[in-house]
Amino acid sequence: MACISKALIVGGGIAGLSSAIALSRAGVHCDVVEVGRSWGGASIGISGRAADALAELGVYDDCYAAATPFQRDSTVAQQLDAAGTLVSPGPPRPDWPGSKVALGVYRKALLESLASHAQRGGASIRIGVTAKTIDDQPAAALVRFSDDSEGRYDLVIGADGINSSIRALVFPDAPKPAYSGQFSLRWMVEGSPIGQEGWYTSSVGRLGFYNLPKDVTYVAAVFNIPEIRWMDKAEVHALFTQLLDSFTAPAIVEMRSRLTPDAELIARPFEWLLVPDSWHRGRTLLIGDAAHATTAHLGMGGGMALEDAVVLGQCVATSQSLDEALALFMARRYARVRTVVETSLALSQQEQRGAPRSEAVTMMKRTLATISESY
Ligand SMILES: Cc1cc2nc3c(=O)[nH]c(=O)nc-3n(C[C@H](O)[C@H](O)[C@H](O)COP(=O)(O)OP(=O)(O)OC[C@H]3O[C@@H](n4cnc5c(N)ncnc54)[C@H](O)[C@@H]3O)c2cc1C
Repeated sequence: MACISKALIVGGGIAGLSSAIALSRAGVHCDVVEVGRSWGGASIGISGRAADALAELGVYDDCYAAATPFQRDSTVAQQLDAAGTLVSPGPPRPDWPGSKVALGVYRKALLESLASHAQRGGASIRIGVTAKTIDDQPAAALVRFSDDSEGRYDLVIGADGINSSIRALVFPDAPKPAYSGQFSLRWMVEGSPIGQEGWYTSSVGRLGFYNLPKDVTYVAAVFNIPEIRWMDKAEVHALFTQLLDSFTAPAIVEMRSRLTPDAELIARPFEWLLVPDSWHRGRTLLIGDAAHATTAHLGMGGGMALEDAVVLGQCVATSQSLDEALALFMARRYARVRTVVETSLALSQQEQRGAPRSEAVTMMKRTLATISESY
């Protein structure tokens, strides 16, 4: 029997919805509140142990049906130059007996699948609602919501992303997100699949892409921009055009021909954060980006959120008390997540220094081998 009976999860993203599934399976009743009103975004790669975590949550097969599987011979991580000449095959993804194939999946499809599994497991999800106050009492946390309703919970989980308001409320002394010196840009291109997937580097920046089912291609680009600042749509478009124009590789030339002035380009600064051990205070626990956010250089931030959820479910199911469960959770999560956050940042800094891509590939290979150990 689980050591708690009722949890509130603030944030219906990857961390929140997957922990609703994991905790419901352990016998905990979960209420999820999500302040946003729709799930959008671009595509996300789920690889390594994170793909196994998705399977452990029972969601892998659903996602597989909507995803691009990256088989062992996939060229998605290969490194090419501006002309499209192969520079390196990229870091191989380690595998182990029974390991799941990595997936590239539309974030919306992933979240819809997680939400539907969470609801089938008994979780309630309220959209457009957030937690306003948390009164931590010895017997329960008393929570007041933005719609003036109230609830009593054994555990409150802040899964509300990098700008977490639960972190601000309960951990006012925690570090704030820090800018890495790089911006990311994502674009979902419509039309028939574009050839020769991989990561291309030119003198202007770096760009990678893979094709998804239903004639959509996911494109991600990285720019060095020393100071964080707001960019309007026109500036983002001009920056991306300049990047595309710096390539002569046929695939990127084809991509450039599909860029229209009204293309939906999602630009965002790469920020990072690592709340020091521990991520719980009283009855509140932070997970996912609320506790640890990274740049996407390893493509593992969402994967760490999935792993957090699975491990939390296991700790709650096997511990005698909440204190024991939270201590066990931290013992299993902190060092692993720290490796991902610190390596991702080191990769970003390497890139900004102009280090050769081969250095990045070596570092990625080493870290992927480390985190292929069981969570
Ligand atoms: C360019 C880019 C590419 C990436 N690519 C990958 C990749 O390929 N693979 C990978 O694994 N990771 C990737 N990541 C990282 C990944 O997106 C994040 O690590 C992941 O989304 C974290 O999930 P989360 O649930 O913790 O937070 P979020 O996804 O931010 O979800 C938080 C949720 O909480 C909600 N919320 C916020 N505030 C409140 C509130 N006060 N009350 C209620 N709800 C609230 C939000 O609306 C949101 O739905 C990438 C990140 C970037 C920026």
